[in-house]
This record gives sequence, structure tokens and C-alpha cells, in this order.
Amino acid sequence: MKKLEDLILTYKNFPKKGIDFKDVLEILQYPDIYQDLILKMSTNKFLKNAEAIISIDARGFIFGSAVALESSKPMIVARKPGKLPGHIFTREYDLEYGKNSLSIQSNAIKKFNSFVIVDDLLATGGTVNCVSKLLQDQKKEILGLITVIELKKLKGRSKFDFPVQSIISI
Ligand code: AMP
Repeated sequence: MKKLEDLILTYKNFPKKGIDFKDVLEILQYPDIYQDLILKMSTNKFLKNAEAIISIDARGFIFGSAVALESSKPMIVARKPGKLPGHIFTREYDLEYGKNSLSIQSNAIKKFNSFVIVDDLLATGGTVNCVSKLLQDQKKEILGLITVIELKKLKGRSKFDFPVQSIISI
């Protein structure tokens, strides 16, 4: 019988030398384990108090959408460059393996005041920090981060002034 931990596959030196890439996609092939994971990600207090979820491009959408359905919360998205139509807010940030930027649709965020961020993995915290700054720039409140995996050696959570729920900490 497989456990969640067995479904996190590690690819050495991907997408760059020195990075141990943690692949969460295998989880989706085991609906019972995926469902159990989503239930665990959907039960914390800060999520209950949030008006909406914001999930991060692209694997964050897989888990964010399911948590949004399970918790009956609205969801908006933070996307990579060139993907979102209409008026957007954008910020650049450093990734464990390069640079990136994320955008949010201004129409989508104006409806809500408090958010929980959902992503697949917390590494250095640069990605989540970018999303939290995008929201704070618009005077929005961030109640917490929910993530499947946390790479605790990289101390990403020390960048945030909100709580983090990670299901697997390695
Ligand atoms: P960071 O900004 O350093 O916290 O990186 C987190 C984002 O980059 C997440 O959206 C992950 O999907 C991706 N990421 C960073 N490092 C890894 C890794 N070692 N394995 C898989 N994804 C990663």
C-alpha cells in the first residue's frame, strides 16, 4: 500500500545542476491519496477565516482548485508572464533556479480582502513572497500559506509574517 511520501519522486539535477526536483504529479494517479491530501490541506483555521484562495502557476493550481472546492472558497490565480488578459499587477522575483515574474488580475483581487496562498512546494520562499507582496501592495491581508512540500533547510517560511501549513516537511 503506497503512502503520500512514496509518491513524491525526486529528479536530481533538474531543471538545473544542483537542484533536487520534487515531482508531485504522481500523486494525481492515486485518487484516494490525493483526496486524503486535499482534506488535510482544507481543514486549518486560517483557511476558514479567509475570504479567498490564491493559487500559484502552475502546479499550485492543481492543489489550490481542489482545496477551493473542498472548502467552498473562491479561488483566484497568480500566473507567469503573458498568460492573463485585462488589467494586471506584476512583480519579479528570484527562484531557486532562476528569475520569474507573477501577475494577478486586478478585477479578480478587488472582490476579496483576505487570502490564503496555495502552492505545491515551498523552497526559498521567493515565489510566495512575490505573491504576498502583490497582495500587500493592494492592501490585502494574507492569513497563511498551504503547501504540499516544504524544503525546510531553505528556511522559506522565515520570509513570511503569516503561518505555514506544509503536509510533508523534508
Ligand atoms: P521558491 O520560490 O524557491 O520557494 O520555489 C517555489 C516554487 O518553485 C514552487 O512553485 C515550486 O513549484 C518550484 N520549485 C522550487 N524548487 C523546487 C524543487 N526543488 N522541486 C520542485 N519544485 C520546485
